This record gives sequence, structure tokens and C-alpha cells, in this order.
Amino acid sequence: MNAFQRCINPQCNATFDVSEVLHRCPKCGALLDVDYEWDKLPVPNSLAHFEKYWGDRANPHRFSGVWRFHELLPFAPLEQCVTVGEGQTVLQRNNGVAEYVGKSADSLFLQYEGLNPSGSFKDNGMAAGTTHGRLVGAKTAACASTGNTSASLAVYCGVTKLMKAVVFIGSGKIAYGKLSQALDYGARTVQIKGDFDDAMARVQEVSKKLGIYLLNSLNPFRLEGQKTIMFRVLEALRWDVPDWIVVPGGNLGNSSSFGKAFIELHKLGLIKKVPRLAVINAAGADSLYRLYNDEKLRWNGGNIDQSKIDAFYAQMDKENRRANTIASAIEINRPVNLTKCLRALDFCDGVVRKVTEQEILDAKAQVGAHGFGCEPASAASVAGTKQLVEEGIIGKDERVVCILTGYQLKDPNATVAYHGTDREFYEQVLGRRGVAETPYANSPVVVDNDIDRILDVLK
Ligand SMILES: *Cc1c(COP(=O)(O)O)cnc(C)c1O
Ligand SMILES: [Zn+2]
Repeated sequence: MNAFQRCINPQCNATFDVSEVLHRCPKCGALLDVDYEWDKLPVPNSLAHFEKYWGDRANPHRFSGVWRFHELLPFAPLEQCVTVGEGQTVLQRNNGVAEYVGKSADSLFLQYEGLNPSGSFKDNGMAAGTTHGRLVGAKTAACASTGNTSASLAVYCGVTKLMKAVVFIGSGKIAYGKLSQALDYGARTVQIKGDFDDAMARVQEVSKKLGIYLLNSLNPFRLEGQKTIMFRVLEALRWDVPDWIVVPGGNLGNSSSFGKAFIELHKLGLIKKVPRLAVINAAGADSLYRLYNDEKLRWNGGNIDQSKIDAFYAQMDKENRRANTIASAIEINRPVNLTKCLRALDFCDGVVRKVTEQEILDAKAQVGAHGFGCEPASAASVAGTKQLVEEGIIGKDERVVCILTGYQLKDPNATVAYHGTDREFYEQVLGRRGVAETPYANSPVVVDNDIDRILDVLK
């Protein structure tokens, strides 16, 4: 194979075989990329090349929205690549949402990654991550998760039986839709009395001790699979690069993989233009926002000022600031892919914004009212777009793709609290989070069990 792992720190630049199971560079501790000797590989000379696979949908690897692009992530032989039918997702032009965010008609697109088998974009990465696990002969795979990664790992292990799934979750915060998936698909589920960061720390220790294959977002192979979200966006736009990609930021795996996708497509001469990238934090989980905008932390050619990061986290611990947002999928204190995300922001001339709980839920209601719906974290992309249009950073006519990362039914509590009439439930789920209004609520009408009253209501 002409694939290897490479340390992202240019001063180190150490390389390792794909068969090694590493999470960070053993030499300097930086994150690792999967990289390729492209000049020795059959790289397509145009993106339209991939259209020839459309007629071959009976072949599971061509049907897969990940492996259809195998030539752009060739770290394993195609016949070894794991698929459960991921990546059948939709790019929808949405004029209702365009109007909501103040954009002109036909300029806003929603990429519905919630339509994946486990209901979130994580399946793109899990297809690639479990492929690497299979390659190295893993018997058990583990992850720590705010919910969707565990649901995804559980599906891949449950369907393929290639390895056993162990998922670590924090207590109390996980949305029931996600927890129910891990349980239903038969994953060994370990609920830590702590938050996501605690679960993350413990799963790393446990994996090391027991030789379990770790499928966190630290895993560079997962990010290879997530590049294909961008390939499918381009495919749906008939290879015409949009002006902006807007994505919620949690552990920053998605934004990192998007950046890598564009770096590689550009290097391979497959795109000329690079879209701008907007990463949206929740105001209650805004480490990237603060580091990027307040501390001015930058990629800086790979010379990242680690002292700024250390000081920031030390201060966070001192003030006992903990991530807290209804958008549980992005409720992260210490984003593990921070440095890769900085590289993506650098290459894609990126911006970082944060949005309030109110903005997230209103945007979510608008997505639901005009489209297939999404979970709270996903709506941060739409709320962030609205902000950037108001600031004049995103032009009214510029073509924007908002990534809707997770499916509507992942977190029905947030939806029912917003639209419903139960004040107590509202207070418990949203009111205490400062969501004061529900301007887009579509509340059920309570009516006596009486045909005339019901007819009145429906007049
Ligand atoms: C994981 C997840 C995110 C955050 O993505 P990162 O790659 O961790 O930044 C956002 N939305 C949903 C629905 C997710 O599952
Ligand atoms: Zn290194």
C-alpha cells in the first residue's frame, strides 16, 4: 500500500506504517494524519471520474457514499473496506431556511448527514475506522462518546460482527435517542460517573491496558472517512465548489477532515477554488471560539503556540468552567482535534462563531419546518450562518452549505419541549438554559373530546 501515517507537526514529520495502532505521534505527541504517496497511486484526473460508479449500485462498495471515493482514501484494499450502506445522504437546496438566515433564494443548501444508518455523520468515519480496526486484527473496539459515536460504533459492530463494541459515556448528558441505539445494537455500554472528558480519559487508559482498538475522533482513519462528506457535497453540486461550508464544532473532527479533504483535492488539482470554512461552537462550549478569536491561536505553519492552549485550559480548570449546552453532541471542553482544525481554518480562510441556546433551538425549529429536521447540535450551523450573514461576512448571494450532522429524532426531548405545551417539561429542558421564547413553536392544540370543538379547531 502507498499509505502511511504522518505526524502533523512539520518540525517532526515522522511517518509510521498504516498497520501501527497509534493515537498520537510517539515522537512529539502531535496528532497523526493518514497520508499517501499520491504519485504512486491511480489518482483520477477529474472529480467527474466518480460518476462512472453511479451505475454500479449493486456493488456495496460503489453504493457506499464513503467507498465510492476509495481512490481519495486508499489506505486499505477496497475488498477489505467495511460498509453498512453509509453515505446515502442528501444535499437539499432550502429556500425556507435561506430566508430565515437572510440569504437570497437558491443560495443555501443543507447537507443531511442525519440520513446515515445510525442517524449521524459519524458513520462516514466509522466505516473507515472499523476498516482500519479490521486491518490490524482488532477483536474489540471502544469509544467515548456524547452519544452519536457510540451509536455508530454499535451499528458497525452489530451489523458486521467484525469486532465487539464497548462504549463509554458520561452520566446524565446523553440524549435518549442515542443511548437507546447503543443498547439496542448490543454494545457493551459503560456509563462513567463523570462528563465526556472524563469518559474520554478513561477509555484511553482502558484501551491501552486491554489492547482494545480505540475509535475516538483522535483516530486518524475515522477522519479519512469523513472527508467523503465534502466529496458528496461537491458531487451534489456537480463538482462546483460552494463559497462556504458551515459546520458545528465539538471535538473538531469533522472540520479537520473537511480541511484535509480540500487540502488534498487542491493539491491533486481536482479543485481550483477552496471554500471558506465556518466552525460554529455553542456559547456554552466555546473553547475553539475563545482560543481562535480571543487568544488569536493560529496554525502558523504548524508552529502552534502550545503555551496559549495550556494557559487557556489551566484557566478553565481554575474557574471550574465546564461545557454546558442543549447541543450535547458539541458539549466538549477540550476538543481533541484542535490543532488539525486550526490547519483547516488556515487553509480554508476560516472563521469561528458561537451561538446561544436560543439561536440553536430557533434554527432547529426552522430546519424542521422547512426540511427533514435535525438534532440541536446540527442547527448550530444554520444559527451560525444567520449570524455571519448579519455581520456581512457571508454574502447574501454566496453559496453556503450547512452540514446537518445528526437526525431529528436523536433528541426528541428538545423538540417536544420547544413545541409542546407542558410548562414544567419546558422549564426542565429549555427554560433553565435561558431559552426564553419559542417564536417558531408549532404547539399541539388541546381540545375537549367533542366533535364540534374539534371541528372548531380545524376551521
Ligand atoms: C459528533 C457530532 C458533532 C461534532 O462533531 P466534531 O467532529 O466532534 O466537531 C456535531 N453534531 C453531531 C450531531 C455530532 O454527532
Ligand atoms: Zn511528531
